[in-house]
Amino acid sequence: MVVVKTLPEMRALRQQLDTPVGFVPTMGYLHLGHLALVKRARRENPTVIVSVYVNPCQFGPSEDFAGYPRELNRDLELLQTEGVDVVFVPSDDEMYPPEFSSWVDVEKVTEHLEGASRPGHFRGVATIVAKLFNIVRPSRAYFGEKDAQQVLVIKRMVADLNMGIEIAVEPTVRESDGLAMSSRNSYLNPEERRAATVLFKALMLARQLREGGEEDAEKTRWRMISLIQEEPLARIDYVSIADAETLEELNSLDRPALASLAVRIGKTRLIDNMPL
Ligand code: AMP
Repeated sequence: MVVVKTLPEMRALRQQLDTPVGFVPTMGYLHLGHLALVKRARRENPTVIVSVYVNPCQFGPSEDFAGYPRELNRDLELLQTEGVDVVFVPSDDEMYPPEFSSWVDVEKVTEHLEGASRPGHFRGVATIVAKLFNIVRPSRAYFGEKDAQQVLVIKRMVADLNMGIEIAVEPTVRESDGLAMSSRNSYLNPEERRAATVLFKALMLARQLREGGEEDAEKTRWRMISLIQEEPLARIDYVSIADAETLEELNSLDRPALASLAVRIGKTRLIDNMPL
């Protein structure tokens, strides 16, 4: 496994790699969710490149960029075990030199959910992913359903800008009690960790209601909200039942829908979702 830290090195190495190249962009502090993407990329491509980069531009000024967990040596060991060929670990200086002034803005699908709660977040995500795609030039890139809106944003960008990269999506990997794996789970103390299961419980409630024939999206939202409010450590950011493609809120569950939510447990903001 080669660890590459500069752009010229990455460009030179890319010339020599077998294609197709499978690419998994991450912010590191890897868990089994990330590794599910890596394993699939490994099965499907002769070359696998993983990037580890905490992108400052996708964090708001009051968010957790400085405190975001980082443990590169452990990440490299895990990636080596998975048989990854190249790990790209760029620096902020090279990714965002002082003269940097071009951004990728995906409209419409970014107006809702995370886009509404975290202004500028998806501009940062789309821009860094576009940059990484241009540097790595993958045939396929792998993303997690855990960040369902991100998947829609990346697919839109790839289609609109004719990037010609296949976007593969893997289901959310969960802990045994249903909590979606996330690097941010490391912020939770034991009491908060227990409380954090309320996200999955609310999503399962939505799914059960749907399977029981419930068609009223508003009623479903309120049932989810009431359940979360029973947990004293939880503060709701949003609870959504939206069209699975456009992410516009639904009145009636008459088409494929996505239940999603963002909830603060103490100071930690967690997100999760489930297709209905
Ligand atoms: P991150 O390091 O949080 O930016 O995540 C990197 C990639 O891993 C993204 O495509 C995420 O959607 C994906 N991912 C994160 N958590 C999970 C999970 N629990 N299950 C599946 N994929 C995940």
